Order: sequence, then C-alpha cells, then structure tokens
Amino acid sequence: MNVDAEAGMNSAAPAVEAASGAPPSAAAGPAAADDTNSRALVRDLSFYYGAHKALKHLNMPIADKRVTALIGPSGCGKSTLLRCFNRMHDLQPGARYEGSIVLHPENIDLVGREVDPIDVRMRIGMVFQKPNPFPTSIADNVTYGLRLRGMKSRVQLAGAVEQALRGAALWDEVKDRLHSSALALSGGQMQRLCIARALATNPEMILFDEPTSALDPIATAKIEELITALREQVTVLIVTHNMQQAARISDFTAFMFLGELVEYASTAKLFTNPSQKGTEDYITGRYG
Ligand code: ADP
Repeated sequence: MNVDAEAGMNSAAPAVEAASGAPPSAAAGPAAADDTNSRALVRDLSFYYGAHKALKHLNMPIADKRVTALIGPSGCGKSTLLRCFNRMHDLQPGARYEGSIVLHPENIDLVGREVDPIDVRMRIGMVFQKPNPFPTSIADNVTYGLRLRGMKSRVQLAGAVEQALRGAALWDEVKDRLHSSALALSGGQMQRLCIARALATNPEMILFDEPTSALDPIATAKIEELITALREQVTVLIVTHNMQQAARISDFTAFMFLGELVEYASTAKLFTNPSQKGTEDYITGRYG
C-alpha cells in the first residue's frame, strides 16, 4: 500500500457510523440486516494479540441465511474477525476478546468466557484457505463430527453422508468411492468435501477463510456457486481478498481497514455507491 493512500484512509476512518456505536441497521442503509433478521450481532468487539489490538470496537450484524463478505487490504483484520466467531484464537497465548458476538435467537455471547469453545465450534463450522481433509475415507471425513457427537447408527450415518455430500455438490462425483481416501480427490473436490464435513453437523453458520485462493478458476466457480446455494440453509461469513468474488456471491459486505470497520452495507450499495471515501478508494483500486 502506498503512503498517500494510507494517510487518506486514516482521515476517512472516523466517519463510520457502524463503528462509532450507532445501531448497525442505521449505518447499513435500507437493504441492510437489522436485529430482527440477523443471525448474530457483533457488538463493540475488540481483539488483542498480546499488546497488539488487531480489532477495534467493531459493530455489525450478520444477516441470517445470507452471505456476508469481509474485504479489505492484507493485515486489516479480516481473518482475525472471522476466527473470533468460532473461538479459534483461544489456544493462542495472550489472545483477548472485548465486547461480544451475540448469536441469535438464544443470545449466546460466542466470545463470552462462560461459553465453551467446543460447543461454539459444533454450531459454527469453518472452511479454510487450503483444503484440509483428514487422511481417512471420504465418508469418514463427513461423519467425523457426527461420530464425535455420539451418532452410531450406520443407516443414520450413511444418510448423513449422502445429504452432506449432496449439499456440497460432490455426491455425484464420489458416490461410488465413499470408502476411498479423501486425499485422492482434486483440490476443488477436497474443498467441497471440507464444506460437506462442515455441513454434516447442521451448523448455524459457516465461516470461509479465502476458500478459493488455492483453487483454479473452474474449481473456484463451483465453490462460488455452492456458497450462493448454501444460503438457503445456513448463514455464511466469508473472507475474500477478491473483490469480484465478494461482489458476485455476497449479500452484505464489510470493508475493514487497520482493524476498524470502515463500512458495512448491502453488497450492491457498497460496490456502487459507498458512503465512505476509503471504501471507494479501495474498491476502485486506488490502493491495496
Ligand atoms: P487479514 O486477514 O485482513 O489479512 P489478519 O487478521 O491476518 O489480517 O491480521 C490482522 C493483524 O493482526 C495484522 O497486523 C497481523 O500482523 C496481526 N496478526 C495476525 N495473526 C497474528 C498472530 N497469530 N499473532 C500476532 N499477530 C497476528
């Protein structure tokens, strides 16, 4: 990033309604999610790696059964925010959360100390940048979480495998080799298997951390199509460094810079008529 751009961003950042404590729906414009149709609400969330404050007082809704994209230049805190949702930071020494992420409708604070991170991860699935299937069979990958929960019936497990693989648009390609190694799949198939594994436990939300950055364009298109279809059944939060991807597949977009939320809006508004100069500079490629 060049210095002028960074200086420009800094001066633009304080003018953000969503980051200054106004109700997210007010900051986000008419098409935005509000408290009544959000699956989660990020409330004055800050996060520290030791002394380093990587997230600064973020406020935004996560719309239910919609795709929300997190965009912004490298190092702005997108992955850090994503990882708060399933408590991925908990094992890191010095990691500290402030504020809350309230999961609706029960109003559980996902980053609350009293909330068990294992329970959180059962409800909020995650798909990583690099496909990471277990070195077991395709079927065993899918049933892992269900077996962990105590499901033993072979019939039930087989049904769940088919349902999750269908949900991840992989069933037709693998139905004849469910007991072969997952590691023999192509990169794109492996990523869809990881999505099936996440879907199998029927999560309320799935987090995607740059899920297509290691894939070729055809595999990328399949994953994008799949994510678009997934919102029929699950709430999606996705980090992407690819703005075209955010524009193609998301309903809402949050633009972050230096650990702050600069702007949250419907994707159509954010990409055509952003209210912050910093957002405009970023989406028009003036820096980053
Ligand atoms: P992005 O996903 O937008 O590229 P990150 O969330 O990875 O950004 O990083 C946000 C900030 O937190 C950066 O300054 C980065 O250096 C810092 N950071 C990320 N991970 C760690 C970590 N494990 N320990 C300490 N600092 C980290």
